[in-house]
Amino acid sequence: MQVLKFGGTSVGSAHRMKEVFQIVVSDPIPKIVVLSAVSGTTNQLLLYAQRLGAGNQIEAIKELKNLQSEYHALITGLYTSEEISASGHAFIDDCFKYLMDFAEAEYKLSSEKSIVAQGELISTQLFTWFMHEQGHEAVLLPALDFMRIDKSSEPDEYFIKSMLEKELQLTKSSLTYVTQGYICRNAYGEIDNLKRGGSDYTATLLGQAIQASEIQIWTDIDGMHNNDPRIVSNTYPVKHLSYDEAAELAYFGAKILHPSCVLPAQKGNIPIRLKNTLLPAAEGTLISARKASGEITAVAAKDGITAIKIKSGRMLMAYGFLKKIFEIFERYQTPVDMVTTSEVAVSLTIDNTSQLSKILLDLREFGQVEVDENLSIICLVGNFTSDQRGYAKKIFTAFEEVPIRMISYGGSKYNVSVLVQSEFKKTALQAINRTLFNLT
Ligand code: ADP
Ligand code: ASP
Ligand code: MG
Repeated sequence: MQVLKFGGTSVGSAHRMKEVFQIVVSDPIPKIVVLSAVSGTTNQLLLYAQRLGAGNQIEAIKELKNLQSEYHALITGLYTSEEISASGHAFIDDCFKYLMDFAEAEYKLSSEKSIVAQGELISTQLFTWFMHEQGHEAVLLPALDFMRIDKSSEPDEYFIKSMLEKELQLTKSSLTYVTQGYICRNAYGEIDNLKRGGSDYTATLLGQAIQASEIQIWTDIDGMHNNDPRIVSNTYPVKHLSYDEAAELAYFGAKILHPSCVLPAQKGNIPIRLKNTLLPAAEGTLISARKASGEITAVAAKDGITAIKIKSGRMLMAYGFLKKIFEIFERYQTPVDMVTTSEVAVSLTIDNTSQLSKILLDLREFGQVEVDENLSIICLVGNFTSDQRGYAKKIFTAFEEVPIRMISYGGSKYNVSVLVQSEFKKTALQAINRTLFNLT
């Protein structure tokens, strides 16, 4: 069995949904099809929730009605049968009535999660009916019955596997299952989600749960590119990546993959194939356990980074200092990305600053603390084996024009991270394209 995930652009219109259908039925391999919301919907629904939260009901409803009309137009372009078309229109009216009701009730923080979940609930229902209209059997699996996160917001793998197996047992003969990406329930049974871009994560978690033979992530580009195509113009798709390389790129800003989605596939040793819905014949990228090739493979960049430097004479020749520092980050549940140390100081980076003031207060007990904001981590991935020479020279040449705040080399075999002010990100990525990938 395979898992095929299609992102927002891939299901972004009636025409696109029909193309997804062609891809899904192009071979007789049993599959679970994971769909995102129609492109733009998640943003619109989040905006609706925000407006309600701000007490701006009138504007919220006006914009929501525009979205509702877009769905009616999509249905008109999607179905030919009058009966299915009527069900589609009625279904959209029900969903939007449910959404409008939030404007009447008292707005709670949890409302946002229920509101935004409608995006995936709508796209999957419309697509499943389209499969039926085309004479293909397809079973709609309700993700809210089997996708669950625990109290630490981590996927509850045991629950997912056992509940999904039960669902599949009930409808053993089906070739195609359709389910919602992104949405789940939390440990308290409330509707929740796997954070932005979370449909990729749904796909790999399901792939791991059913031990899929392959996970395909279909999007609007022909695979993982060597550099960020939103920032640098001349980039190319990388044919092969190891799980470790792909995980680093996803975590450090390559938007094509959700930051956490590689691990479930890696644990199950399931290949991930990145494919382009707009160009299905393109080879795309294969992510597997293969050994990386000994060169620099790709680069990604992550913004919104804050660096913290703790300088203390007490660190000199002392042991236990780093432990005390890191305990503070653990206490405030704040992940640390990069770390560098000198004999009297340690610098580290975080991207979640929600607890920063408390963290700084505790750190100041250990010494002088400096904070730098608006930084970006440039993450180069490849296979940086220690017996090969010249990487450092190549990398430093690429950063000739860019002031470097921190550098982390040797932490892992697959990654060299360089911290720069965000205003230099574009210059750095362009220079890397020229000097490390020989592209103009
Ligand atoms: P989907 O809606 O299908 O999940 P996303 O927008 O989340 O699609 O991801 C695809 C986008 O990721 C591409 O359109 C591209 O702009 C962006 N992207 C950023 N970095 C990379 C990269 N290194 N390779 C390919 N795409 C990238
Ligand atoms: N629809 C969600 C989002 O836009 C999840 C996804 O597309 O992966 O973030
Ligand atoms: Mg995405």
